[in-house]
Amino acid sequence: MANKSSLKKMVSLTPLIVLFLISAFPAFAQQYADIILYGGNILTANQPKPDDSSVAEAVAVLGNRIVAVGTNQEILRMAGPQTLKIDLEYRTVIPGRIDTQVPLTNLKSLAENFRNQAEEFLAQGVTTVSTHLSKVPLGVIQKLDLPVRVAYAAEVSLQDPAETLLQNYEALPSSTVLWNIGFYLASADGLENSAAACMSKAYPREARDFPMWRAQAFGTNGNCLPTAKLRSAVDTILKSGNRATFDIHGDKGLDDLLEVLESFSGQYDIKRTRFGVEHCAAIRKDQIARAQKFDIAFSCDPPLGVHLEDGTKSTATEILFGRQEGGDMRAPLRSMIDAGLRPSLQTDSLNYYSFLATQQLVVRSFPNTRILGPQQRISRQEALHASTRWAAEHLGREKELGSIEVGKYADMAILDRNYLQVRQDGLNEINVLVTILGGKVVYTEPDYANRKGLPQVGYRGNLGSILIRGRLTDKLPYQ
Ligand SMILES: [Zn+2]
Repeated sequence: MANKSSLKKMVSLTPLIVLFLISAFPAFAQQYADIILYGGNILTANQPKPDDSSVAEAVAVLGNRIVAVGTNQEILRMAGPQTLKIDLEYRTVIPGRIDTQVPLTNLKSLAENFRNQAEEFLAQGVTTVSTHLSKVPLGVIQKLDLPVRVAYAAEVSLQDPAETLLQNYEALPSSTVLWNIGFYLASADGLENSAAACMSKAYPREARDFPMWRAQAFGTNGNCLPTAKLRSAVDTILKSGNRATFDIHGDKGLDDLLEVLESFSGQYDIKRTRFGVEHCAAIRKDQIARAQKFDIAFSCDPPLGVHLEDGTKSTATEILFGRQEGGDMRAPLRSMIDAGLRPSLQTDSLNYYSFLATQQLVVRSFPNTRILGPQQRISRQEALHASTRWAAEHLGREKELGSIEVGKYADMAILDRNYLQVRQDGLNEINVLVTILGGKVVYTEPDYANRKGLPQVGYRGNLGSILIRGRLTDKLPYQ
């Protein structure tokens, strides 16, 4: 449902814009904009609260930055003879999408295939991806000319002794396309489908759709890291002043982390450190209240699809906790946002269509399947924040990325349909027409480019044939 307040047009900002331009770009008086998008619905995500964010008509780009956002009249004044002007014809523009976890190391040969993979991201409007990398793939990535922005966490294993945990890591100089976001602590537990997620409930051996549960290979409650081990790892991280993201699948795994954080809360400013927790496969409401005290940055998988669930069978969480409670425990973004947290959306996949992931947060089902945890539905404006503004915060780049605001990098995507008005269960059908990254047109949809006289740039394969777009088949090269 489109919220009225979000549709209000931006009030005239001319004096503000002029002031900014004089102070930040003294040479601007002689300079025209490089790109102007006008006549559209520009969803700026310019406010902390999704519903307060403005919808503007036009935006101007100079160099790699956004230099003005406002009405057509205000912005078109900045056009010169060389300016690329795109009449949006009322189409939607969104900030460049940010996927807070994609498994880049699943690419067969990172060096050979990264460019093609990056072009697929750009064709989905994704301009920034976050990933975790151990030393070797980081070395590969470092040498590449990166067509998308990559934030990485240095991957270490919680199985290693705390004394050596941070040793293998040397800080690299950060750039506008590659930067470090701290450590990624892998293997706190494992996947729920193999009964490895550390859960507060015992895995029943007889679950029909989960044959691996029969063995209970990690014990009745999954693979739970000893608390002492977690405690010394957290202590090491906190002492070093680094940020960390924890790879946690089960609710007991999160209980253990929260307990450890609570035990250190007198000693360290954990809230300022803002630890991350990935997956959100099983989170209880009482845990969200505890996590809020530390302002945990949750990076959530969409509720369905990451583990090939198609919504026709019960998920692992539902079998353990019952259909209603279990459904509500998967990617509980409604409860998180209501508690004041700012969760982000990760696809955790190289081929989960970015707008299908958005649809999952809003609808919580695949087309024609049952609904999973309807109480956890969020609005499409909130879902947009989860892939833009809140995701930028998760990656420590909220001053540069995540919204369409003066001074930020010009990362944006033009969509083929109205994001606020398309049917909820049609959000996955949204296509990207143009992607702009750092003020450069990096993707154009072929027909749109023809019609608008834009250059043909970027991915030219068929996204529909390789990406999950509302239908799952086991033929897909799913990660
Ligand atoms: Zn994981």
